[in-house]
Amino acid sequence: TYSIGPRIFDWDDQRRAWLIENPELANSSNGKPRILLVTGSPPKSCDNPAGDHYLLKSIKNKIDYCRIHNIEIFYNLAHLDAELSGYWSKLPLIRKLMLTHPEFEWIWWMDSDAMFTDMVFELPLEKYKHFNFILHGWEKEIYEKISWVGLNTGSLLLRNCQWSLDLIDAWAPMGPKGKVREEAGKVLTEALLGRPAFEADDQSALIYLLITQRNLWGNKVYLENSFYLHGFWVAIVETYDELIDKHHPGYGDERWPFITHFVGCKPCGSYGDYSIEKCLKEMERSFNFGDNQILQMYGFQHRTLSSFKVERTSNDSDQPLEIQDELNLLHPTFNLF
Ligand code: UDP
Ligand code: MN
Repeated sequence: TYSIGPRIFDWDDQRRAWLIENPELANSSNGKPRILLVTGSPPKSCDNPAGDHYLLKSIKNKIDYCRIHNIEIFYNLAHLDAELSGYWSKLPLIRKLMLTHPEFEWIWWMDSDAMFTDMVFELPLEKYKHFNFILHGWEKEIYEKISWVGLNTGSLLLRNCQWSLDLIDAWAPMGPKGKVREEAGKVLTEALLGRPAFEADDQSALIYLLITQRNLWGNKVYLENSFYLHGFWVAIVETYDELIDKHHPGYGDERWPFITHFVGCKPCGSYGDYSIEKCLKEMERSFNFGDNQILQMYGFQHRTLSSFKVERTSNDSDQPLEIQDELNLLHPTFNLF
């Protein structure tokens, strides 16, 4: 039978001992727990060349957010485990990174088709003190309605600890490509409300694990919905113009969505639930919406949300150091200890 790796029982002890040996790596330079943002895309080029261009925009967007907020990035382009391919590939990758990088307290997986649209907002890590697994979702949708979209696995945080290794061990068995994944898909479609018939995916398998073994996992899973840890793009992209009039970055919720996720779009592959034109158009607008918050630091903005062209918003000064950007992202005080 399939195994994601040698069973580990004492990771918390191993990790603690390592951190005592390497105290300078226990916290980041600003005294906060270290976070590694992990993302990736298939090893081969996209069927549609425009897809590769949007993967580039998407990683630039993540690099910008992470630079401002002192988060490190890992981009994966390899299939580390032939059995856990596609959307399942995040599991062996997260596990490997936890075990090789004990200095990171949190591993933050983010899909390639998700972008930061609020460059100011920061995760409320204090709130997650007693939890190990953070996802966007709703208790009621999962435990009462048993909905297959009760949570989303496109943007999630896992604490680097034994509990998370155990969870991954329990989560992975429906993933192996081929017969196992096909058969498990039938079980999931049978069990979860609204799920179309297709092979087992990581999101459905996680919901299934939570509803069948709630007592084992439920108390360490935080279902976030007070801001968009993941936000479904279709509703969000309609609101950008109004948001710009009424609000400003920093809220992370419907007033200024933190992360916009292009669920159902497959600009890299050949099939999807939405037309490729619609997807690419709205990805462009979302990227530019986020990018305007970066460009404002340098006195530029996109001419329109749909345009890659930029225009100046202020003249250069002979006293450049006296200028502080409006969003305070150039030298953000919230990053200082
Ligand atoms: N992914 C990857 N390598 C692959 C396929 C997918 O790293 O070979 C990542 C990629 O970041 C992608 C995520 O897994 O956004 C989820 O997979 P997929 O795109 O198939 O699902 P969706 O994003 O549409 O939910
Ligand atoms: Mn996705």
